Amino acid sequence: MAAGGGGAGPGAGPGGGPGARRGSANRDAEAEVWCRRVRELVSAVPANRLCFECGQRGVTYVDISVGSLVCTGCSGALRGLNPPHRVKSISMTTFTEAEVLFLQEHGNEACRRVWLGTFDPRTSLLPDSCDPQKLKEFLQEKYEKKRCDPLTPPTPPTRMGSGGSPMLCPLF
Ligand SMILES: [Zn+2]
Repeated sequence: MAAGGGGAGPGAGPGGGPGARRGSANRDAEAEVWCRRVRELVSAVPANRLCFECGQRGVTYVDISVGSLVCTGCSGALRGLNPPHRVKSISMTTFTEAEVLFLQEHGNEACRRVWLGTFDPRTSLLPDSCDPQKLKEFLQEKYEKKRCDPLTPPTPPTRMGSGGSPMLCPLF
């Protein structure tokens, strides 16, 4: 019997995870730059100074999941959604380049078009961030059910039973 195959197994690496912390000052400086970019994004764009969810002044968090800027109260409610949104504190967290670019591309104005496309402020009111229950319901309608999203129909048409209906086959 010939034992073919001379594959020298490469074996697993030493297993230095990519998430290992490097105390490099360079890296810290870079993170600082991205944090500043986020703060600039808030001060440069008027729409970004108001919470995307409740409209109150003073944004302290960013919603990385959709690319919006929100207040502290709403950030907590967004975390409680299913699935939870990823929110990060503007002043306490470091941001990656990808996250900052994502925020720059989106921001509250772009998010408004996507998530509040059919939202009419004359007939509907934004929730009060002081009312956690209302806020939660509003966010659930918005993100979990996608009520106001013009790009996603709320109930996608499902074809059931058309054509191949499960009729009983007559036995011969
Ligand atoms: Zn808010």
